[in-house]
Amino acid sequence: MSEPILVLDVGGTKLAAGILLDDNTVVSRAETPTLAEEGGEAVLARLVALGRRVLMQAAHEWPALPTPAAVGLASAGYIDQAHGVVRFATDNLPGWTGLPLAARLEAAFALPAAVANDAACFALAEAAVGAGRGYRHVLVVAVGTGVGGGIVIDGALYSGWEGRAGAIGHLCVEPVNGRPCTCGLGGCLETYTATRVMVAESGYPSIQALAESYTAGNEEPAVDEAAIWLGRGLAALAHVLGPEAIVIGGSVGLLGERYLQITHQSFQEHTMPLHQMTPLLPAALGADSGLLGAGILARSLLQKEDS
Ligand SMILES: [Zn+2]
Repeated sequence: MSEPILVLDVGGTKLAAGILLDDNTVVSRAETPTLAEEGGEAVLARLVALGRRVLMQAAHEWPALPTPAAVGLASAGYIDQAHGVVRFATDNLPGWTGLPLAARLEAAFALPAAVANDAACFALAEAAVGAGRGYRHVLVVAVGTGVGGGIVIDGALYSGWEGRAGAIGHLCVEPVNGRPCTCGLGGCLETYTATRVMVAESGYPSIQALAESYTAGNEEPAVDEAAIWLGRGLAALAHVLGPEAIVIGGSVGLLGERYLQITHQSFQEHTMPLHQMTPLLPAALGADSGLLGAGILARSLLQKEDS
């Protein structure tokens, strides 16, 4: 049995924390608003306070539980995993860029700390214990209001130089007159596949309302078009990465089997025969997958230190 891990998650609107147990359940979970506008240092202080609260709560609720062996953090932004530093975060988290998160958490909790991008943590969790379990090389894409994901090779996250890999949403799928993207470029996969794009084009007020109509069998061209674009993007990525399986998560999970089938059909139409049997699987984990992935990352850090 391995010791528990203190797990933390920093998003643009909320901070979450909990204790990850050996069986991959998260207990003593707590949340608080990010209040990002107060700046990076204030958010980090609030995160540490939340972590301490969770440790105290866990000690009270589970007196027999050993103290955690490490801290794992899933954070928005481009995270340099090797150094535990935020290389770039958008204006959603002002003052987050440049923070040495791993060093600060190690000092605050007197525990080894591992930090990765939140979508990358989600990917690691899905690959290790979710839909990608049993596959060695897994591409995980999260399609929601934005598009992100992660690349898991031989069970480990591939994050590129200083955390630059995995920006799946900014894969260029339409180089000529592509739609403008929040990143400053144009024609990015996200601008054709994100749920906010489907919702805007469909006329429904929310992805939930659109999904309700779509899963009831109604024609919703906005969804089908987004699925076709996603299939094209995944095909391009498959040619580069050669994944054994592709997992699709995020709020498009609401769109069900039909969305996945159209995506897969488009994927097959745009790949070489070698890739056409690559399975496209719906994500299997729930809302705690970011926390879970951060914990799995921290465990792998401990294993490295042991060996
Ligand atoms: Zn972009």
